[in-house]
Order: sequence, then structure tokens, then C-alpha cells
Amino acid sequence: MNYKAIIEDVYNTVRNEEDAGKLASYIPELAKVDPEKFGVHFSAIDRFEFGIGDYRDKFSIQSITKVLTLCLAYKILGEKIWERLGVEPSGTPFNSLIQLEADKGVPRNPFINAGALVICDILLSHLDNPKADFLEFIRNVSGNPGLNYSPKIADSEKSVGYRNMALCYFIKSFGNIKNDPLEVLDFYFCSCSLEMDCSELSRTFLFLANGGRKLFDPTPILTKSQTKRVNALMQTCGFYDESGEFSFKVGLPGKSGVGGGIIAIHPSQYSIGVWSPKLNEKGNSFKGMKFLEYFTTNTQLSIF
Ligand code: GLN
Repeated sequence: MNYKAIIEDVYNTVRNEEDAGKLASYIPELAKVDPEKFGVHFSAIDRFEFGIGDYRDKFSIQSITKVLTLCLAYKILGEKIWERLGVEPSGTPFNSLIQLEADKGVPRNPFINAGALVICDILLSHLDNPKADFLEFIRNVSGNPGLNYSPKIADSEKSVGYRNMALCYFIKSFGNIKNDPLEVLDFYFCSCSLEMDCSELSRTFLFLANGGRKLFDPTPILTKSQTKRVNALMQTCGFYDESGEFSFKVGLPGKSGVGGGIIAIHPSQYSIGVWSPKLNEKGNSFKGMKFLEYFTTNTQLSIF
């Protein structure tokens, strides 16, 4: 398979197509990003790598971080985490409050904001220094000691994070947040502010294509069964109320963020990071989705 030629071809096609998306202006700092940025980076478990466009520019990974907070909580607590949240697609937007009342404060899955807040609460209960310990985990998974949060982005989101505050206090009212909601929110905003470029993104997530292990490191980050389950959740819940569409068009487990990034995994083959900041109506990167759709169509390879 000539991945390089296919990536170049698809990149040039999508770059020249119209972008019907819009920047995520509800977080003031994200509204300042250059809307024309477009980068892709591919990492295969046979060590082949290739990047194109703005793949070395850092961006805010936002909700993509929810996969990593889930992995750390899963590693610490094992299957017990599913006592606190579900594994079903929500069919609602990422920041929806609507199901929580009927579900008695138990979020449908770890990738909607409600679920990620519960995961952050679990981490607060189990880590001595949540922000530092989570960063150390990410740096270890990625093999990259240079990864960091952006305090500017975290503060920007905190200044307008009313919906997340409402979600967190609402879940607390059902007893499914154990810590001080302000501390949970502070950790949540910080975790969403992680910055990576496309190459860092694809390399960080390669362990999910490799049965839960980093390349050339025998110590697993997750067990094979946990890795299967995280990938399954990315497949069914990674794009909120557009998860079915992503599955239908792309056919890979993936996760998006309102910074315009998407990570997609082909188990036993590769991970691919795409970034284009303008978002469709569901809050997923317009061109990122297009790129991945054409990519799996042209490679004729997906998990299905
Ligand atoms: N930090 C963002 C929020 O809570 C993450 C949302 C996203 O990337 N979908 O609104």
C-alpha cells in the first residue's frame, strides 16, 4: 500500500474543496486560530511515518484528551469505572444536559462532556497531583517529554465554561461527582487544553493500534481487552451525534475535538492525526472528516 501517495492525493483534493465549517468561537482563544490550517500525520506500527501540510503546528486537542483521561482512569480502576458511567452512544451533542436527569446523573459514555467530567472526578480521587500525574502519563505514552497544557486556552475556556459548570453541578446533585465541582472543572479545562501537532497526535495514539503497547516497549499501557474496549467506544461514541456518520463514511475508531483535530485508529495497522480548525454543525472538523472519508475509501481499508 502506497500510503504516502494516497495521503498526498487526498490532502490536495480536500485542500481545494470548499470548507463549509466554522471556528469554535464559544472558546475565545479558539476563535483566534488561523482557519486555513490543514495538516495530516500518519504513523504505522511497521514504523512508516508520513506528514503533510501544517502537521508540525501545535493545536488544542480539546476532547481528544478524553480518550487519554479514560485510559488513565481505566488503567487505575479497571472495570469498576463502568459503575460510574455507561458505554452507549448518546445521540446528543457533546455538551448536552438533556439525558442526565432521566439517567440520574450517570453519563451515557466517557466521551461526552458529562462522562469526561466523571472521569476527571475519578482521577482527582486517585492521583496525588492530577495535573502533573496526567501530564506525566501522556508524556510517557507519547515518549515525548515536550508535551504540555496551554494555560491560556484553559483560562479562556474557564472564563465562559457555564455549560460544563452546569453539567458538573447537576451530576454532583445525583452524587456521581465525589470531589469539589470547581476542582473537577479546573482539571477538566486543563486536560482539554493539551496541545499537540499532528505528528505528536498520531504517535501518542499509536499504542491503541498496537494492542495497548507502545512500539518496542513490552510494558502495556492498557491490556488487550481494555484496548479493544477503548477502540470500541471511539467507534461508537467518538463523534457525539455524528458517530454513526463517521463510522459509516470512515469505518475506523476515532475521536474529535473542537480545536479541529481528529485521531483515527486502524487496529494492527496505523494511527492518523488530522487537523483543520473549521467545524461542522456537530462540532467535528469539516475537512478532517472529509479527509478521512476519502482516505479509507482510496486505501479500501477500514475495520469493516
Ligand atoms: N473543552 C471543550 C468543551 O468542554 C471540549 C469539547 C469538544 O472538544 N468537543 O466544550
